Amino acid sequence: MRIQSNLGSDIAMAFDECVENPAQYDYAKLSCERTFRWLERCKAEHDRLNSLPDTVNPGQMLFGINQGATFADLRAWHMREIAKIDCDGFAIGGLAVGEPAEVMYEMIDVVEPHMPKEKPRYLMGVGTPSNIIEGVSRGVDFFDCVMPSRNGRHGKLFTWEGTVNILNEKYAADDRPISESCGCPVCRRFSRAYLRHLFKADEVLALRLAVLHNLYFYNELMTRIRQALDEGTFVDFRSRYSGHLEERA
Ligand SMILES: [Zn+2]
Repeated sequence: MRIQSNLGSDIAMAFDECVENPAQYDYAKLSCERTFRWLERCKAEHDRLNSLPDTVNPGQMLFGINQGATFADLRAWHMREIAKIDCDGFAIGGLAVGEPAEVMYEMIDVVEPHMPKEKPRYLMGVGTPSNIIEGVSRGVDFFDCVMPSRNGRHGKLFTWEGTVNILNEKYAADDRPISESCGCPVCRRFSRAYLRHLFKADEVLALRLAVLHNLYFYNELMTRIRQALDEGTFVDFRSRYSGHLEERA
């Protein structure tokens, strides 16, 4: 808690144990009971640190983290318990650790009814564009993931038309941008062929341009999700894009 307080981030995360998948029930139960006790201690210490006269960010928020592996009863029990502690928001942790996406969605469905309505919800470490759309449809507000940057470094690019593996031979003389519909600086200036050439030549600029495009796509994804929610068209947005954005363009 002191390290996070000194960093002065907007949000500090409470301690939790992310158990391995698949987990033993008895271990997962003891673990999420401990994660609950840790949250009580984190909350007390976080309040104390925020009240110090020389604290870096006295407005720093604290989020509690739901655990319970893939056991519905543990997930629901743990969420009900941590919701009693006055955190600024709550995260669902311990998912996207190798379980099928359907199991992850099922766990969000189990946990969500027990999350406070007026506080933000954060799904940790997720995910693909479709995972994010499905998370939002189940009531999640925000996400974090290495996917746009890590995939970008491997030449796997996200677009509204599907994914592009820029290393493929068929792009060797392709003068089009990664995506005609993308407004990012890479798509406005450079061709698929040039980006592929940079990858093939082991130029570090290739990684930079690919990550730039993917981060732009993820930001646009979140912008369009927010717009669809505001306009009441999220159901259509979901059926149009969920499950399709990972298909090959
Ligand atoms: Zn782009």
